[in-house]
This record gives sequence, structure tokens and C-alpha cells, in this order.
Amino acid sequence: MAMMNAKEYEESLRKLKFNVYMFGKKLGNIVDDPIIRPSMNAVAATYECAHQPEYEDLMTAKSHLTGKKINRFTHIHQSTEDLVKKSKMGRLLGSLTGCCFQRCVGMDSLNALSMTTYDIDKKHGTQYNQRFLKYLAYVQENDLTCDGAMTDPKGDRSKAPHQQEDPDLFMHVVEERKDGIVVRGAKCHQTGAVNSHEIIIMPTISMREADKDYAISFALPADAEGITYIMGRQSCDTRKLEPGMMDRGNQIYGGHEALVVFDDVFVPWERVFMYKEWDFAGQLVEQFASYHRQSYACKAGVGDVIIGATQCIAEYNGAQNASHIKDKIIEMNHLNETLFCGSLACAAEGHQEPSGTYYVNTLLANVCKQNVTRFPFEISRLAQDIAGGLMVTLPSEQDFRSPEVGKWVEKYYKANPNVPTEYRMRMLRLIENLTLGTAAVGYLTESMHGAGSPQAQRIMISRQVNMDLKKKIAKKLSGIPEND
Ligand code: SF4
Ligand code: FE
Repeated sequence: MAMMNAKEYEESLRKLKFNVYMFGKKLGNIVDDPIIRPSMNAVAATYECAHQPEYEDLMTAKSHLTGKKINRFTHIHQSTEDLVKKSKMGRLLGSLTGCCFQRCVGMDSLNALSMTTYDIDKKHGTQYNQRFLKYLAYVQENDLTCDGAMTDPKGDRSKAPHQQEDPDLFMHVVEERKDGIVVRGAKCHQTGAVNSHEIIIMPTISMREADKDYAISFALPADAEGITYIMGRQSCDTRKLEPGMMDRGNQIYGGHEALVVFDDVFVPWERVFMYKEWDFAGQLVEQFASYHRQSYACKAGVGDVIIGATQCIAEYNGAQNASHIKDKIIEMNHLNETLFCGSLACAAEGHQEPSGTYYVNTLLANVCKQNVTRFPFEISRLAQDIAGGLMVTLPSEQDFRSPEVGKWVEKYYKANPNVPTEYRMRMLRLIENLTLGTAAVGYLTESMHGAGSPQAQRIMISRQVNMDLKKKIAKKLSGIPEND
């Protein structure tokens, strides 16, 4: 099968039988659900762009398994050039959608598993890598979206998985059968949950031997028997149910997360990629996390949207020539490009692992994500500063269209006489959406906690820097003997 386009992707999702709940009700058709659909549109963009000649170089790659052209989201990185293209692809899609387009978690879990399964086999004499490559060939051949799922509920944070009062707070094996295993547990904050064909489970933390029942990784069709999705809600989500589109801000795209429950789900052996090798749980977590921290180039793409919106609103307000406005927009660009620098740098400084896969520089990937936990907040603060308070006091689209009061909204919210009031309202709604509404989930809170909360990166940074070398240089330059 060739690479899918957006329409084919949408049709492929219609064939899946997801078990999804939202607002306490079971959903039948999720593809057309007005609240979920924008997130499906965002994943569809990853399919559509792969067919556009101007994006082909970034969006596609040559499979190292078959030599065929594939969507880069299913590719195993074969060079640092591949890694750099991955960073650029993330920024591109972030800038085209203005939200989380969800497909990177699958790409990052596939790449991490290509390395970890190889390393487990080398140490334990298992056959996971062969299994994994067979699965990868299936994903590439069918151009599937995989949902990489790492975050367990975790229960009492002071306790290891096996010490929890409720053993299901980390995903674990409950039964071993001849033909496979039965698993129970849940994954939280799952981006792309109901827009993916497959779900790939990984452990969430390093483990010790006592936790070996929790050291599991596997893949399942996303609609496998026993999996239930409970959709998260977002600020302003029900605006998508209102008549009119303007108050949504982003008219086309959005991200969405879910709690995914595995209630005694069967996994055949050919889809199990780690089974009780507790000594590799930490490695898989670290490799997935480092790749995903690189992936946060997506936020520089969303930053492009917010900076563009801020420049527009400055012009619509007639304030674009004020020196402090110009300076604030320069600051926004500086921060946004610094975000991108981190993602590019960790890619360019990547290296080949024993499995053959190219892996990012982990120190720089963690620095990249640490910046992401901060700069989008400052960029948003500046956007709100420039937008003005109207962003949150603006009447609704229905009032704007009202035969009685619409004229007053039109008259009193006009600023630059050359710009229709409606354009000003639309742009303010986009900034509201990105910094306070449904898209703020992806641009702000996800920037903070996605791919690991800030402290996780600080621990990695402290582990990765060569402090002895730094001390040695300082001592040499100041004339202090090296061993004193
Ligand atoms: Fe991709 Fe960014 Fe969404 Fe993660 S947060 S899945 S990197 S778009
Ligand atoms: Fe994320």
C-alpha cells in the first residue's frame, strides 16, 4: 500500500471500532464528532503534507527495510540528516496546524524500540528486534499512525510500582499464556489517542527486579478488545458545539488527550517487545523521552502562529509602529528561534547506536525541552500584552451577528479603519485559543509537562554534563593543581 493521503487516513479511522467516552456518554462516530474532529484534522495534515511536492523532502524518507518511499513519521532515522529533517518537519507541521499534530509520539517510540529491542537481545539472547522489525514493516507498509503511550497514572509518587496499594496504577502483566500475555493498567494524557491505528505501550520509569511484571512494552491495534478511551476536556471545548466558527479561534485544527484504560487486554507474543527485562525499562524511557524532547520543535512551529497573530493584531490595533511593540515582537522571535536551535542542535549532534539507528544528543535534547517548559509562557505573555484585554472581554460571534446589537459590536470594536472588525475579532480569538483556550493545552501545559516535566530534564542535564572536565579546565587556567 502506498502512503495514505488525508482522505484515505480519515476513511481508515472510520473502520476502527474504538470504545470512547466523552461527557459521560459512549461515542459512536468519533471521526465526525465536532469536539474530536479538529484533532483528527491535525493528524490528517501529516498525511496530506507528505503528498505536497514542496514538503516531500521533509515529510518522506526511504525505508531502510524496503527502500520504498514512506512517510517520515514511520521512518527509523538513518543519519543525522534524517534527525535534522525530523526537527524541521515538526516545526513545519506546528506552524501549519497551530496545535499538537500527535503523530510524533509513535515515531519516537518506534525509533526508541529499534534501539532498545536490539540491546535487550544482545544482553539476554532474546528475539525482540526481529519481532519489532516485522511490526515496523507492517506500520510502514500501511502508513499507520502509532500512539506512543508512556505515562502511567503512577499513584503514590513515593512508592515503586510493586509497592502501590492498587497494583494497576502502573501497566502490568496479569497473566502469561502460551500465545501471549494479558495486561492491565492505564495510560494518561494520551495525545492522539483516538486518531491512531495502533497504540505502543512503554514503561514510564526505570525499574528494579521487584517491578519486573511492570517492565513491559508492546503494540496493539488501537481498537483492541478491552481498551477504553475517556476523553479529556479542555478549556472552551464546548465552543465547538456552538453555531458559528469564529469563537473557536483555530478554525480547523486542535489537539486532544485521553485516559486510556486496558482492562485485561490480550497481547500476542509477536507484538511484545519487552517482557520483564526490568534492567532495560530505564533505557527505553530515556531514549523515547530524548527523541520526544527533540520533537518539541513543534512548539516553535506553534510559536510561528502566535507571533504572526500578534503582529497582525498589532497592525489591526494600529499599534505596530510603537517601539515597545516592535521590541516585544523581536523578543518573541528570539525566544522562538532559540527553541528551534535546541531541537536542531541535538539532531545535528546525533550519533549512530549499535542497532544502526541514529540517536539525538541527549544533553542537548534535554536542554531543548527545558527551554520549551519556559519560553512559550513568555511568548504567550507578550502576545497577551500586545493583544490587549479585549481578547478575554470580546462578545460572542452570535452577538456580532445579532440584528439588534451586532452594529454596536461592529462600531465600538473597530480600530484600524482599514481592517474589518471581524478580522480583529478573529485574530483575538486565535490568540485567546493559543494562550487560554483549547490550544493552550498543547502550547502551554504540554510544553511544561509533555515529554517529561521540567525536573526530569534537569536531572538528565545534571547527569550528562561533564563536570569533571569543566573543573579541570577552571583549575588549569587559575593555576590550581588538578588534584587539589
Ligand atoms: Fe508531536 Fe509536539 Fe504533539 Fe509531542 S507535543 S506529539 S512533539 S506535536
Ligand atoms: Fe507531547
